[in-house]
Amino acid sequence: MTESTAEGFATRAIHAGQAFDPTTGAVVPPIYQSSTFVQDGVGGLRGGYEYGRSGNPTRTSLETVLAALEGGDRAFAFASGLAAEDALLRSALRPGDHLVLGNDVYGGTHRLIQRIHGDWGIRNTAVDLTDLDAVRTALATDGTKLLWIETPSNPLMKISDIAALAELGYAAGALVVVDNTFASPALQQPLALGADVVVHSTTKYLGGHSDVIGGALVLREGELAEKVGFQQFAAGAIAAPMESWLTVRGIKTLDVRLRRHSENAQAIAEALVGHPAVENVYYPGLPTHPGHELAARQMSAFGGMLSVALKGGPDAARRFVESTAVFQLAESLGGVESLIGYPSEMTHASVRGTELEVPANVVRLSVGIEDVRDLLADVEQALERRG
Ligand SMILES: *Cc1c(COP(=O)(O)O)cnc(C)c1O
Repeated sequence: MTESTAEGFATRAIHAGQAFDPTTGAVVPPIYQSSTFVQDGVGGLRGGYEYGRSGNPTRTSLETVLAALEGGDRAFAFASGLAAEDALLRSALRPGDHLVLGNDVYGGTHRLIQRIHGDWGIRNTAVDLTDLDAVRTALATDGTKLLWIETPSNPLMKISDIAALAELGYAAGALVVVDNTFASPALQQPLALGADVVVHSTTKYLGGHSDVIGGALVLREGELAEKVGFQQFAAGAIAAPMESWLTVRGIKTLDVRLRRHSENAQAIAEALVGHPAVENVYYPGLPTHPGHELAARQMSAFGGMLSVALKGGPDAARRFVESTAVFQLAESLGGVESLIGYPSEMTHASVRGTELEVPANVVRLSVGIEDVRDLLADVEQALERRG
């Protein structure tokens, strides 16, 4: 791994963990669709593989490339982003512990922490991560063991300062976790900025083709990595061979995809600013975005996600998402195809009435890598029809 981190990002994305198959010379490592592995006499394992829950070569190839891309020592691939999060929380926390999280984290993360781990005695405080004093105060709560960061945030694209937050977390003795799903390692490297653990929903940009659900944790060697490995093995929410293989395949084009996603999103954000139907555009690539300078420092491009608040309220927002043609109305994000969503009734329906509630006139766009003029024309015609 040390050897591969010396190579450039795009090279690592294509080659780390992807050595050709020694028995056939197949350039692409196979999908080892096997639940178990023959032993040459009791305990005589070939390559360390024994039973598919404890390890599978296709999963290893995914975990190896993920660690290389995030600059970590170890990666663990799970059946979903939330399964990865759950394994991390159970590895790092004990009943009675307290954690601090952003007040605009992914709704499913909030639900997991509040409703599942809350029931098992984990306390939490949600704060505005751009308010460092508020974070410092929350971290001073008795029993704080973990700080959960997500940037850019969903759906309002707030940018928080990973390096500054990592210092606060470190000073408070808290494990610093960054959900890097929205930026992907192509644009943002939390471990290099001081974080301890990176979390991914690989369902999104890493997979990149809307054909797989998966999650991952990346961290340095050490006690926590051992605990996470044990959780993965003992609780069993592993990434399956086919899913691992699809994710590896997606990762090979991560670098070029994220560049194109970012260019297309920038063009759409700029076209939406000042449009008579638009109240506000939330995109860190706009100089008017409050997190623009920080994002320019912390990320190598601004990514493919943007949100827009419409002047006509909830009705206009709903009409808009139901009027696009290239942008398809669906949950999720990060695929090559453009998607549009209405957070207050879709992705964020579960947080209505909480402090995580999203304004009902906000629409979220996952800008794909189609021809930008088709995307611009689609957004334009849908805005005309918003009513
Ligand atoms: C989708 C998502 C998750 C959850 O991942 P699943 O793969 O759906 O379980 C976590 N965090 C962020 C930022 C996400 O977008």
